[in-house]
Amino acid sequence: MKKILLLSTGGTIASSASDEGLIPSLNSNHLLSIIGPMSDCEITCEDIMCLDSSNMQPEEWITIASRINDVYINELYDGIVITHGTDTMAYTASALSFLLTNISIPVIVTGSQLPLQHPLSDGIDNIKLAILGGCEESLKGVFIAFNRKIILGSRAVKVRTTNFDAFESINHDEIAIVNGKGLQINHSLLNKPVKPYYFYNELNTSVLLIKLIPGMNPAILDLLMNNNYKGIVVEAFGAGGINFIRRDLIAQLEKMVSYGISVVVCSQCLYENSDFSIYQTGQKVLQHGVIQALDMTSEACVTKLMWALAQSNKPEDVKLMFETNYAQEISLTSKE
Ligand code: ASP
Repeated sequence: MKKILLLSTGGTIASSASDEGLIPSLNSNHLLSIIGPMSDCEITCEDIMCLDSSNMQPEEWITIASRINDVYINELYDGIVITHGTDTMAYTASALSFLLTNISIPVIVTGSQLPLQHPLSDGIDNIKLAILGGCEESLKGVFIAFNRKIILGSRAVKVRTTNFDAFESINHDEIAIVNGKGLQINHSLLNKPVKPYYFYNELNTSVLLIKLIPGMNPAILDLLMNNNYKGIVVEAFGAGGINFIRRDLIAQLEKMVSYGISVVVCSQCLYENSDFSIYQTGQKVLQHGVIQALDMTSEACVTKLMWALAQSNKPEDVKLMFETNYAQEISLTSKE
C-alpha cells in the first residue's frame, strides 16, 4: 500500500464563499472527505498554510520545501501531494524544483479553478490525478497535475484564468495524460536523477522581472541598483531584441552587470527558445555578460535566479548555474 502525504496550502480548491469573495477555509481532511476513498493508498493529511496563492511568496516556498525535506529524508511517504492556489502555482512548482534538487519521489502540486465544494468542481479529478501520480515510483521530481495532464513543475505556466485547462507545459511535452486507457506516462521524458539529492533552504528575493515595452526609459533600472537588487530577468522582444537607439537599454544592462547584478534575458514569447546570437540587437547584450535563458519560462528564470543568488552573488557563478540543467527546466545542447 503506497503512503501519500496530502499537504494543503489554500487556494480556490479549498475556498468557500464569504462577504468579501472566495477565501481559503477548508483543511486537508475536509478536502479528502469530499474526494472520497482512494484504493491502494493510505493518505495522511496535513495543513501547512491556508492562503490565496497571490499571497504566497518565497518565504512560503521555503516553508513548503522544508516540510517536504523533513518527511523525505525520514522516508515517511512514497509521494507528496500539495493542494495550492492556481495563480502562483507555477512559481511554487518551479521554486520547489530547485529547492529539492534530485528528489526521487513524486511531489505533485494541484488545485482547481472551481472550489471543491462546488458540485461541478474540477478539483476532484485534479486531486485524484495528483494522488495517483504520487503513487507512481517512476515520477521523480516536482510536477503539476491539472486537467488530466501531469507536467513538469519547472515548465509550467498558468495560461488561462477560468478555463479548466489552466496550465501548459512550455517547450516540453507533457509527462503524462489521462485518456480512455487510464494514466499514460511518457517514460521517455522522465528524469532519472543520478546526482545526489540536495535540499536548499534559502532564496535571495532581491530579484525583479521586467517586460520590455517600446520606449521604456532605461533610467528606471537605476532604481534597482540604488535598492541593492542582485538579479533581474528581462523579457526581451521576440528571439532576443533589446533597444539601443535613442533609449540605450543595452548600455544600461551593461552598467548593471558591471555593478555585479546578474542579468538574465528571456523572451516575451511563450513558446520556443530565445537566441540572442541571431540579431545585432541581441549579440550586443551577449558581449556584456548577460545570461541567456534559452527556452526557460519566466517563472523558472525568476525562481532559478533567486535560488542561484542564494548560493553566490557572483554573476559568473550565476551564469554557470544558468548553463546547467537542474530540473529539466532548460534545453541545452552540450553541458547538462
Ligand atoms: N486566487 C486563487 C489562488 O491562487 C486562484 C485559484 O486557486 O485558482 O489562490
